[in-house]
Amino acid sequence: MAERSDCIFCRIADGAVPAAIVREDDYTVAFRDLDPKAPLHVLVIPRRHIASINDVADDDAAMMGALFIAARDVAVSEGVAEDGYRLVVNTGAAANQTVHHVHLHVIGGRDMKWPPG
Ligand code: 5GP
Ligand code: ZN
Repeated sequence: MAERSDCIFCRIADGAVPAAIVREDDYTVAFRDLDPKAPLHVLVIPRRHIASINDVADDDAAMMGALFIAARDVAVSEGVAEDGYRLVVNTGAAANQTVHHVHLHVIGGRDMKWPPG
C-alpha cells in the first residue's frame, strides 16, 4: 500500500493538496475532477487509502455504502439527480484506472452513451 504522502487523493483528503471540495463526511471526501469529462464531474473517495475495488475488505461495507450515499447527495446538490447521471469506478489497467485510490466518478450534465468505450 502506498504511503499517504505518495498518493494524490490521500493528500487531497488530508488537505495537503488543494481541491474544489463539494462534500465531506467521516468516511468520504468529494471534489471536482481536475480534467472534467462532462459539465459535472465530481470524484468521491474514501478518506482511507484503498488502492482499488480489488482491495476492498468484507468489513468495508459501511465505507462503501457511504461512497454511494455521498454520490447521491452530490447528484442532488449539483442539480443532476432528476435528469440522470452516471457513476463509474474504473478498476485496473484494462479499465484505465490512473489513480490508485478508490474513487467514484459522478458524471452528469449531458447525455451519456451506452455502452461506455
Ligand atoms: P481514473 O482514470 O483513475 O478512474 O480517474 C482519475 C481521475 O482523477 C481523472 O479523471 C483525473 O482527471 C483526476 N485527477 C487526477 N489527479 C487529480 C488531482 O490532482 N486533482 C483532481 N481534482 N483530480 C485529479
Ligand atoms: Zn490514497
